[in-house]
Amino acid sequence: MARTHRVTLIPGDGTGPEIVDATRRAIEATGVAIEWEVQNIGMTVIERSGTPFPPEALSSLRRNKVALKGPLTTELGKGFRSVNVALRKEFDLYANLRPAKRYRGVQSRYEKVDLVIVRENLEDLYAGIEFEPGTPEWRAVRTAIATAAKQDIRADAAIAIKTISEYNSRRIVKFAFDHARANGRRKVTAVHKANIMKFADGLFLSVAADVSKDYPEIQFEDRIVDNMCMQLVQKPEEYDVLVMPNLYGDILSDLAAGLVGGLGVAPGANIGSEIAVFEAVHGSAPKYAGQNKVNPMALMLAGAMMLAHLGEAEASRRLEKAIADVVAEGREVTYDLKADREDPSAVGTREFADAVIRRMGGRVAA
Ligand code: NAD
Repeated sequence: MARTHRVTLIPGDGTGPEIVDATRRAIEATGVAIEWEVQNIGMTVIERSGTPFPPEALSSLRRNKVALKGPLTTELGKGFRSVNVALRKEFDLYANLRPAKRYRGVQSRYEKVDLVIVRENLEDLYAGIEFEPGTPEWRAVRTAIATAAKQDIRADAAIAIKTISEYNSRRIVKFAFDHARANGRRKVTAVHKANIMKFADGLFLSVAADVSKDYPEIQFEDRIVDNMCMQLVQKPEEYDVLVMPNLYGDILSDLAAGLVGGLGVAPGANIGSEIAVFEAVHGSAPKYAGQNKVNPMALMLAGAMMLAHLGEAEASRRLEKAIADVVAEGREVTYDLKADREDPSAVGTREFADAVIRRMGGRVAA
């Protein structure tokens, strides 16, 4: 008998609940048995619970080990830098996986793009170790840098610290190679700026080269991040899996999303050694909340990634193909996928999901 999977479902806020509902229905239409545990985190619960992370939501995720998550608005007021970053830290979700694939029917300048960006998720400048000018902590750090690095930092300069560890570099590069191996991909490119940041990025690069020796069947190369940006714009078809530290990954994954049609079509996953959270790359798009307007495709593709993660490879392929078919046909798609964004034939979030469900042979309410 087919196994029932238990998955934590986080609706998120803004347009989150609408795209999460569309995605849940599309996943259910694959026939895979899933018991959803709905849990709220972020700004929707902060007033009631006094924290954006209610303990029952965290323990649900700890128990189920897999979540499908709607976008969460970052700005929660003082004391919280980002709910998304905090969630990644809490569950040690060290790998951020962001495929960028061109689907026929999506407006793009490129014909053939099929990249996977693997971004380190926990350290680098992105970890938010920062010092505000004039504070006692800033003074202490400035003095220490003057002594240790013989560099005077201007008195009006804020300070941000970049850390790159061997531990996190090794596990993210290993993750990228394992992903390449499991998915029949041919090449891994390490992206860095080791010519300038000789210790931090230099460490990342030397660890990457070392890890690559364990995967002789997969080609390994490296690129300096600025050159990588240019190459991706000129000839994205030459690249396959790209692995990089956090901040470059943040920037390059939006660049890659731009190559394949924008944020509305880009899925992502945050994966740790035990727990995986699947989401769209885009945010909560609050200006469209409650309007049944935005494209659920990115989260649906994340749903297909989740099915693969759960060992449901066939259902994953079926869902991805149904999405691709609906988009290629171009009739029942949301406004952002129409050549003219004002096209009155664009459908809503719900109707896009209905079209995907019908493609898989499922029935939808009239
Ligand atoms: P956003 O991605 O929410 O929206 C930017 C614009 O992109 C929207 O106004 C819309 O025009 C377009 N867009 C986004 N998603 C779309 C979709 N599914 N279909 C069609 N068009 C779409 O970015 P933002 O406005 O900068 O961020 C809003 C909030 O979301 C912020 O608080 C931000 O920090 C947060 N955020 C959360 C996550 C996450 O939960 N992982 C990721 C990014 C941003």
